[in-house]
Amino acid sequence: MTTSNAIPSNLDIQSNVDLSAYNTMSLVCIADRVIDLHTEQDIEQASQILQQTTTDNSKKPSVLVLSGGSNVLLPKQLNITVLRPLLKGITVLNETTDYIDIEVMAGENWHELVVSSVNNGWFGLENLALIPGLVGASPVQNIGAYGVQLEDSLLSVKAYHLPTGVWHTISCEDCQFAYRDSLFKRQPNTWLISRVLLRLHKDPQRVSANYGDVQQVAQKHAQQHQRISIQPVDVMNAIIDIRKQKLPDPKDLPNCGSFFQNPIIAQAQFKQLQADYPDIVGYPMSDGQVKVAAGWLIEQAGLKGGGIAPILTHKNQALVLTNHAPKQASQADIQTSQQYISQTVFDKFGVLLQREPVWIDENL
Ligand SMILES: Cc1cc2nc3c(=O)[nH]c(=O)nc-3n(C[C@H](O)[C@H](O)[C@H](O)COP(=O)(O)OP(=O)(O)OC[C@H]3O[C@@H](n4cnc5c(N)ncnc54)[C@H](O)[C@@H]3O)c2cc1C
Repeated sequence: MTTSNAIPSNLDIQSNVDLSAYNTMSLVCIADRVIDLHTEQDIEQASQILQQTTTDNSKKPSVLVLSGGSNVLLPKQLNITVLRPLLKGITVLNETTDYIDIEVMAGENWHELVVSSVNNGWFGLENLALIPGLVGASPVQNIGAYGVQLEDSLLSVKAYHLPTGVWHTISCEDCQFAYRDSLFKRQPNTWLISRVLLRLHKDPQRVSANYGDVQQVAQKHAQQHQRISIQPVDVMNAIIDIRKQKLPDPKDLPNCGSFFQNPIIAQAQFKQLQADYPDIVGYPMSDGQVKVAAGWLIEQAGLKGGGIAPILTHKNQALVLTNHAPKQASQADIQTSQQYISQTVFDKFGVLLQREPVWIDENL
């Protein structure tokens, strides 16, 4: 890493940065310039610099917003500026006997927020334990796990609109959340989220444990602590246990979590598949469609632990693509393996798999 003196500012700017340690898939990537943002003033200042260095003023500056790098697939070379929102702080804004409103800055670690909330007696996030990444990225794909999504606890988001340089407070409704989707995901590198406002409840009896084996494992935790009923802390610890068993830790084996979204198909198609494959795993949606377990489809297509080396599905969890050549494999290797897996699944089931992590183009 070298420090650039080209632009006079007190910003934390570096050039020719190797990002292989900044993405959990450990793909090779060199970025022209990286600016670490510690305050909202830093965001404004960085935006001004970007506008100055953008030749055509009407054009959106070419930037990539990068937080924990756990949901991105980076190209070998990024000839643009990478903005890293690392703002810290958690503030209580409002509290009643039933709930508490907290404002969390974008650079806070998501899992640490979940643990500290539950320890404080503030509930609602426990099902989202152990999701890697930073808080600012959590609204981008409306993070979700074990029957709960971020939108269930989110009141609003404060975000900077990079093309115009204007701050916006965006309500939960205006974030246009959907399954692993939001306004921010549909307009990439246009918004820079600096804080999120969450409403967490205080009722220890209100838990969401009816998903997979959460109930059973949480029950064991509750019994160990002589609690008559399951409490949020039991759900959180159960989910931590389950995730540790099922998902490889990116530090040991680079990955970016679930690589494919669970496809949503029409009920008629699901029934047809069920006739041929009675064990098919599907979850009925409120709109009548069915969410099919992508991991099951991949496994049944004979691809558990398969793919094209060095990018292979995990031996215990077919939904996760893992990189067996850290800091050497590139985006092209991902594409080759992804195409092979998708095509094999489509040929067998007629179901199209969609990628979940964000594909970053070399020329944004
Ligand atoms: C082992 C593992 C398990 C996972 N499990 C889950 C899971 O259960 N559920 C789930 O939903 N996800 C899961 N993920 C995916 C990932 O953890 C989440 O999507 C997480 O929110 C990404 O956070 P990040 O800080 O790493 O974001 P990054 O990967 O850095 O960025 C992701 C996207 O958000 C944008 N972005 C980042 N920060 C900001 C910001 N401040 N403002 C605007 N845009 C921004 C980026 O440009 C990019 O498009 C998992 C990943 C791994 C590696």
